[in-house]
Amino acid sequence: MSWFTETLYDDWQQRFPISREVFRHKTDFQDVIIFETPRFGRVLALDGVVQTTERDEFIYHEMLAHVPVFGHGAARSVLIIGGGDGGTLREVLRHDVERATMVEIDPSVIDLCREHMPTLSDGAFDDPRAEIVVADGCAFMRESDRTFDVIMVDSTDPHGPGEVLFTAEFYGDCRKRLNPGGILATQSGVPFMQPEELTNSAERLGRHFADAAFYVAPVPEYVGGFMAFGFAPAGGPPQPPAAEDLERRFAKAGFRTKYYTPAIHRAAFALPAFALELIGGR
Ligand code: SAM
Repeated sequence: MSWFTETLYDDWQQRFPISREVFRHKTDFQDVIIFETPRFGRVLALDGVVQTTERDEFIYHEMLAHVPVFGHGAARSVLIIGGGDGGTLREVLRHDVERATMVEIDPSVIDLCREHMPTLSDGAFDDPRAEIVVADGCAFMRESDRTFDVIMVDSTDPHGPGEVLFTAEFYGDCRKRLNPGGILATQSGVPFMQPEELTNSAERLGRHFADAAFYVAPVPEYVGGFMAFGFAPAGGPPQPPAAEDLERRFAKAGFRTKYYTPAIHRAAFALPAFALELIGGR
């Protein structure tokens, strides 16, 4: 049996037995591989780094999408930067939104995931409310004059094409593109393994968002403990909302989740001491 060894860290590796290699291709932007594994189902890796797996993707996608959308409470327009596999788009479209726009730099990721990992998008790309833009998310934010209630950054790690999506300039452009009371959510790495990513995110988000915070969720494929998500509100009521408000919003939305619950939503903002220290006690 051959194995896929992730190349994210110099000094620690995770590897997956490959039951079958489904697809491998070098796009204009990155190396794409999709392979099948016994435990995680199909796995997508870009430039040697695991992005998503069929078995545990629900945790990441539900938490990236539902915490800001339920936190907002009345989001009608949502922007996703990156997210080519379609999982975040799928979760956003479970809400009563008017439009969900996804800006992905690499159209091959969209095409390959639609074909080889269809449960990720689960029809979301065919939803009339979905708008797909093929562009660099950073340039889109700089040049667009559109505004949104919620912006989610569903990016690769801060290397290669995703690097620009972790800069203070990019967060500043996101701030300008949020409607009053809008919320920006980001993926901010695994704090135990990538502590500098959390520190940098806190410092850079903090330049543009006075109340920037972080929440966490354990995602097995992102090894090394829980993953952190940035949560940056542009004004609006205090976050997270009261338990009864979240319960009401969740009940009204009327869909089932596999990880997200209103109680998890609130609990996810409780950070352990080492993570608090990394963000300067925020
Ligand atoms: N869940 C994943 C994680 O945390 O590792 C992210 C998955 S999603 C597949 C990441 C997407 O971001 C990729 O499809 C990649 O092509 C896209 N991406 C990277 N840099 C980008 C940029 N500058 N603008 C838009 N999309 C970008």
